[in-house]
Amino acid sequence: MSIYNFAAGPAMLPIPVMKQIQDEWINWNGMGVSVIEISHRSKEFEALLAENDELIREVADLPDDFEILYTHGGAQMQFSMVPMNLLGLKPGNIAQYIETGNFASIARKEAEKFGHIEIIATGEADNFSKLPDLGQVNWNPDASYVHLTSNNTLFGTQWKAYPDLGETPLVIDATSDIFSKPIDWSRVGLMYGGAQKNLGPSGLALALVRKDLLGKATQPCPKLMDYSVYAGNHSMANTPNTFALYALNLIMKWIKAEGGLSVMEERNQTKAKTIYEVIDGSDFYQGTAQEADRSIMNVTFTLPSDEMLQEFLKESQAAGLYALKGHRVVGGARASIYNPMPQEGVDALASFMKFFAQKRG
Ligand SMILES: *Cc1c(COP(=O)(O)O)cnc(C)c1O
Repeated sequence: MSIYNFAAGPAMLPIPVMKQIQDEWINWNGMGVSVIEISHRSKEFEALLAENDELIREVADLPDDFEILYTHGGAQMQFSMVPMNLLGLKPGNIAQYIETGNFASIARKEAEKFGHIEIIATGEADNFSKLPDLGQVNWNPDASYVHLTSNNTLFGTQWKAYPDLGETPLVIDATSDIFSKPIDWSRVGLMYGGAQKNLGPSGLALALVRKDLLGKATQPCPKLMDYSVYAGNHSMANTPNTFALYALNLIMKWIKAEGGLSVMEERNQTKAKTIYEVIDGSDFYQGTAQEADRSIMNVTFTLPSDEMLQEFLKESQAAGLYALKGHRVVGGARASIYNPMPQEGVDALASFMKFFAQKRG
């Protein structure tokens, strides 16, 4: 029986990447030792990191005026690093946050420790089932930056496009949709993401930041919280998570070999459509996100009763469909279908959903 893992994060990795890690685990690069047993200062590891830079620039079409930072502490350390580094871009320590779910709120609360934070748009009144209308927003020209969460992992909503803020840098938490589709860098000041959803193991985060935003950290700033320290040391001011950087290398090569971000997007669209069609075609399942704002990464839905949900989770697991339980904040079920999830996994889930609804509906 094939097993398909729908976990929200840490999430499944591509099978060929896992196989390669296994194959070269105790003998990496012909060195007779593991990649996690060598110095991060060795020429072999430095070459791997340089190759990561090249792969990211090429695959994501990242412009030269952006710096690539490999940071510690996952996505949530960025919730602190962003205000510590960027609030000082303008006098007044003001930033504006768009609140579209659980992680967006956590990011905003963390930033409030450092400055004056305005919530300019929120989906709270709709229980985050849809994205707020940014047409009505009062952008503050004195804001150092605006923070947006591109994909709301718990609630299953996703921005299809980013707002044009003119001079104000847009900071995007893209943890759950980074590199799942091409990126319009002209709208981005800083994009960050924890690696554990689309890019590999947890702990590592990628921060892609416009170079003119560096060097403005509010002082004193702890060394490992300062973007310019990462930028000035090729992200090796101390020992980085070498395993995660190695896994990232293989995943970027996998994305490239599969055809890049536009192919990822096409596949992700088709995968999401496969599940949403089952939801929309039945009275049994109910999508929790409004149609226009639905995510192609996290498909969230409910069943008619909690009892049915429990049976659904038990039987789907027995059928090889893992980790479909929704986040406790939202309830219901959730299928996370990041880049590595193959269409076959989604087809298996769609068949199971139809079968279960027929049996119980
Ligand atoms: C998962 C997630 C996070 C949290 O990531 P950590 O690496 O655990 O800190 C933050 N933001 C979004 C949008 C996420 O999906």
